[in-house]
Amino acid sequence: MELSRRITGILPEGSDGWEVFIRARAMADAGHDITELTIGEHDIGTDPAILSAMDRAARGGATGYASVPGIPALRRAVADRVAARTGVPTGPENVMIMPGGQAALFASHLAVGDPGDTALYVDPHYTTYPGVIRSLGLNPVAIPTTPEDDFQPRRAAIDARADGAKSLLINSPNNPTGSIYGRDTLDAVAGAVRDHDLWLISDEVYDTQVWSGEHISPRALPDMAARTMVIGSMSKSHAMTGSRCGWIVAEPDVIGHLINLATNTTYGVPGFIQEAAVFALAQGADLEDKVAEPFRRRRGLVQDILKGQNAVRAIPARGAMYVMLDVRSTGLSGRAFADRLLDTHAIAVMPGESYGKCAAGHVRVAMTAEDDRFAAALKTLVAFAGELS
Ligand code: PMP
Repeated sequence: MELSRRITGILPEGSDGWEVFIRARAMADAGHDITELTIGEHDIGTDPAILSAMDRAARGGATGYASVPGIPALRRAVADRVAARTGVPTGPENVMIMPGGQAALFASHLAVGDPGDTALYVDPHYTTYPGVIRSLGLNPVAIPTTPEDDFQPRRAAIDARADGAKSLLINSPNNPTGSIYGRDTLDAVAGAVRDHDLWLISDEVYDTQVWSGEHISPRALPDMAARTMVIGSMSKSHAMTGSRCGWIVAEPDVIGHLINLATNTTYGVPGFIQEAAVFALAQGADLEDKVAEPFRRRRGLVQDILKGQNAVRAIPARGAMYVMLDVRSTGLSGRAFADRLLDTHAIAVMPGESYGKCAAGHVRVAMTAEDDRFAAALKTLVAFAGELS
């Protein structure tokens, strides 16, 4: 029996970019001591106080079908947080609770394009972006960026590809590069979006992980609220990756359609998870800072370790839990470098190629191991690159 082109075409090259990660996991399962600096997952679990709230909610009866758009208290808490952080008036009617940012990426793209339409995204990109776009029958078109320009999307690159496109997906703070889009970049992006009459899908799941500069939500820029959908999540800000709780912030009419979609697909997010999210958000910035702190600290370690060497060059890590290293001086691709580092030193990092053509010759190091182990692994990586250079 034949399956649809939309589902068989999600990974046209047969690679999902996760090969090194899967190999490292298999080696770890077989008993090897692997330092895993691969996926974006905290080395701490969800805070025990949040787990207690989840338990209380479940035992209190929040185990049935929950309101499809999200429970009122969570829609209100997300709206208040977004309004406080951006200054844009935002109410519960602007918020749709989703089973994670990933589902929000899918739903927002479904909302903006019909099969055959073009959806733009920035390269390097979070691994799943082109697959999300292809799974909807949309045509993914990458906006190229360069490491020399800190992987910032530039107006000319967007203009050259935007004719007839429906949407542009951006992500700041950025996975995989650690870049943050400053006001100039975002003004230019917003200008292009307005002039080409695009929807802007702004993935802001790392908005609490900012190490230098500031996070600006493009929904706050002039005339952008009506054409922007912001994607948020409890995953990174509150170490709740497994709880699958995120959201889309958009105009109320957009939210209305997203509710129809959710009613016919996911049917909402478990109530006890949502109540735990309400509790977590009520803890305010203190808890968010506590969750972000280990990455801030390790980013300091990265800066110290990389000083005075030129085997690898770091893209300035301004936000998110990653540092992107240029390993082109070794003459190896990112993939070959990552494979050899795993085989010879039992350290797993992600090849830049997993994140698009523009990250070739780089590796992404997730700052997700305990400090001493992380520092030792990074020193080994640098020495290994030095031997090859
Ligand atoms: N966007 C980006 C940039 C991500 O890195 C991730 C997860 N790694 C997601 C979205 C999805 O996150 P979640 O579904 O856990 O909210």
